[in-house]
Amino acid sequence: MDASSVSKVEPAASREPIAFIDLKSQQARIRPQLDRAIARVLAHGMYIMGPEISELEQQLKAFCGAKHVLTCSSGTDALVMVLMAKGIGPGDAVICPAFTFTATPEVIALLGATPIFCDVNGTTYNIDPASLPVALAVAHEKCLKPRGIIAVDLFGLPADYDAILPFAKENDLFVLVDAAQSFGGSRGKSKVGQFGLATATSFFPAKPLGCYGDGGAVVTDNDDLAVVISSIRQHGKGDAKYNIVRVGINGRLDTLQAAILLEKLKIFPDEIARRDAVARRYNTALSDVAPVPSLPAGCSPVWAQYTLRIKNGRRDEIANSLCERGIPTAVYYPRPLHRQPAYASYPVVAGGAPVAERLAREVLSLPMHPYLSETAQDRIIASVRELLSTA
Ligand SMILES: *Cc1c(COP(=O)(O)O)cnc(C)c1O
Repeated sequence: MDASSVSKVEPAASREPIAFIDLKSQQARIRPQLDRAIARVLAHGMYIMGPEISELEQQLKAFCGAKHVLTCSSGTDALVMVLMAKGIGPGDAVICPAFTFTATPEVIALLGATPIFCDVNGTTYNIDPASLPVALAVAHEKCLKPRGIIAVDLFGLPADYDAILPFAKENDLFVLVDAAQSFGGSRGKSKVGQFGLATATSFFPAKPLGCYGDGGAVVTDNDDLAVVISSIRQHGKGDAKYNIVRVGINGRLDTLQAAILLEKLKIFPDEIARRDAVARRYNTALSDVAPVPSLPAGCSPVWAQYTLRIKNGRRDEIANSLCERGIPTAVYYPRPLHRQPAYASYPVVAGGAPVAERLAREVLSLPMHPYLSETAQDRIIASVRELLSTA
């Protein structure tokens, strides 16, 4: 019996492992184009800042409607370069959510500045705007100079910029958007890349738009910032190669990764639509058994993750049972950042971040990718429903 004749109704098949993220199907879909793109780079040999870099930057600009896109070595470097360009250092405070990936506060601390952790909203999981004035008060109390906010679009959902941007303006703070999970999304009439001073994104393989290694980009409409970041990404170079005008980093994206991203970008809008279809199906089928992601009006998330909340301390038990059935899940994130040993000494808003703490206990992300078949979705849905309806 060959593999294709294995019937879907066989019990064994119903326990076949499902992929949490399926990069193989994506690769198979565009493999010939990828091979040709890679071959072109091998032929011209311009591995550093080759023509694919500016081609990709042009296309990304058109994609998100921004004036400047500077590709770079990772999402983390995209974040750090914006902070470097703003001269962030000791004595400065930058506000960020307590519920995010480590890289968000890391870049602040790395530059000797102080991250101030604020709490997040219990339904969007993004910065709670009500927590921002409390964070500002903490900065003043500690005699730190509040400089900016890093807002994170967690799981692909743009944060509440209608509230964050006016608060930042009133208090003379810049807004840096950590869009590592949300590039390709939009909120109202604006696409991710158009909010705040600058947007940092990541092309890490597992992100919605990923390359085959590390990569990232800074997106901004600010001409001066773009010039400074372009210099920082090449060791602080000025007009001539050995005219070094500032301290920079080696922050370039590889030409090979740009060539791969150019091919992936062609199918990205279709992939976003497919992710959205999976998310909507999950939402419809699961909303009566668990708190499902809410979709604020006018928001188009890119569903980097599809995340449920599992209450009553049952999260880990449910995750284990799903795993036994060949359904992988993930916990993003099991601990808020202010509870991590490396960040425990940094300030958190008065009253702590109780929502972040609760989310860390309850969140569970289900398989989410553009190639998740309806059969697999139905198996996941049926299992989650069954497990949640048995106490
Ligand atoms: C992945 C991620 C980053 C870091 O991106 P890298 O490309 O891995 O450096 C930063 N912030 C968030 C929220 C992320 O999910």
